Amino acid sequence: MTNKSAGMAAALAVLVLSCALPGCGGGGDGAGGEEQATGEEPVPVAQDCSWVGTGELSVRDDVAQRLAAYAETPITASLEGLSEREREVLDKLVAASRIMNALFWEQACPCHEAIATRVGDYAGPQAEALRAYFALNFGPWDRRFDWEPFCGGWPHPPGANFYPLNLSDAERERLGGARGPLAALYTMVRRDAAGELIAVPYSSFFHQQLADAAKLLREAAVLSDNESLRHFLTARADAFLNDDYYESDMLWMDIDSPVEVTIGPYETYEDGLFGYKASFEAFVTVADSAESARLARYKGELPWLEAHLPIPESYKNPNRGTESPIRVADEYYTSGESRAGIQTLAFNLPNDERVREAKGSKKVLLRNVMNAKFSQILMPIGQELLVRSQRKDLTAESFFLHTLFHEMSHGLGPGKIVVDGRATEVRLELKEHYSTLEEAKADVMGEWAIFMLQEKGLFPASILPQQATTYLAGLFRSVRFGIAEAHGQANAIQFNWLLEKKALIYDDAQAGFRVDVAVFRDAIEDLVRTICMIQAEGNYTSAGKLSKHYATMPPVLSRALARLDHIPVDIRPVFAVD
Ligand code: ZN
Repeated sequence: MTNKSAGMAAALAVLVLSCALPGCGGGGDGAGGEEQATGEEPVPVAQDCSWVGTGELSVRDDVAQRLAAYAETPITASLEGLSEREREVLDKLVAASRIMNALFWEQACPCHEAIATRVGDYAGPQAEALRAYFALNFGPWDRRFDWEPFCGGWPHPPGANFYPLNLSDAERERLGGARGPLAALYTMVRRDAAGELIAVPYSSFFHQQLADAAKLLREAAVLSDNESLRHFLTARADAFLNDDYYESDMLWMDIDSPVEVTIGPYETYEDGLFGYKASFEAFVTVADSAESARLARYKGELPWLEAHLPIPESYKNPNRGTESPIRVADEYYTSGESRAGIQTLAFNLPNDERVREAKGSKKVLLRNVMNAKFSQILMPIGQELLVRSQRKDLTAESFFLHTLFHEMSHGLGPGKIVVDGRATEVRLELKEHYSTLEEAKADVMGEWAIFMLQEKGLFPASILPQQATTYLAGLFRSVRFGIAEAHGQANAIQFNWLLEKKALIYDDAQAGFRVDVAVFRDAIEDLVRTICMIQAEGNYTSAGKLSKHYATMPPVLSRALARLDHIPVDIRPVFAVD
């Protein structure tokens, strides 16, 4: 409920904002055109929401059942070690995070205020479940089932609300090849009064809300005794107002504070059309410094792993950055994209390649979320689907290690590349396939890295079957989310690859999957090589082929998933400050 009201308030603010812009409402000066005039603030016209309609909403009759797949789970963080002032900082950060939630509503769901009104008016038998599911999905489309509408019947726009809904084929093509503001990470694409596509910077489009969020971050900075946190908060407040996130991304890397925050526009998954646009989100966390220190020693292995990637030397990237801090933290509050659908276990940021070249990337593992998911979901899945003799190998530690090495692997392999003599980035070349391939890469490279380090002597041999079986249980857990978005597709690619290579065998007699650990190791390395080569060459066509061939749901997989109906698909976090 809180989310929904916040979203509606945000929508109103956006409407007000669009008329507060210079020249808004005035009879157009004909400034439209192919390229934006320099120095002129583009003025978007209001979206047409008449398609939302009125009257009794059509609602799928299994909405309550779909909601029940997300087990409501209290997620708590201990504040024992925090001072009074640090707790006040936390309050400010939560307040700023609530704004990110409102911004993400606007990005994810066109006309969300009009749809929310219809959802709010709905009085059928599943009314309460519908409202909760609408909030969980940030819209009327099921993130778990290929964006299928669960109410209203409107088709999901692949570009979410980042682009106008009525793009022509020619405009779509033009956007696909765009390099300037229209393709920028921090702009919304809209139409001007002449009907031309224009790019509106987030700092303009969301001006009032970002100004409010900036104010809260500055207030938190005044309260904080931690210099690194203060610097980040101040710089991020500036970024909200000028769309330049570089400096604050750099400072975010250096935060060394018991209270941490990750807040702003980050991932591009929500833009299923081109993968250009960053979604707003926030994680407010309380760090576990002892655990972080234990894990930080793995970062010393990153250059060695990069040097041993199974790709030609010329494609290796020894200067991608060696300073890669690892944090283990407990979630205190999350909002925006991170709150939508499936809950994040760990993240690896920032995405800006300039920062990654200079400083690497920071991994934050969300320990309380990870523990909740292992015991409630992953363990029961493994018990159900593995052959009996391999069930004993499922361990929380393997789940933790794989998650850790998944995150570290985002910082390995091709990032900035050269295609036909042109300096570019993997992200720009692979477009909508980028996220899927990058997630698949991180998963398989994470396993590959653990196997490599075991061979190097860092882990005992007993870890190999534990890794392989726990990883497999993890694949089932992820594919259950559906194969509509990057993570689900990434997992389907891995599953089908391993099945094809016979690293996984379905044992009919035991009605369970068996992992062949030796074959598994080689198959994993093969997939690491395949994906890294596509990335190194910026090969859009091969990326599409790999996804098309492997990101599928074969019968053996759908039959297995059907046996998991009694196990929750994910947790639905309930925070103390909700
Ligand atoms: Zn990832």
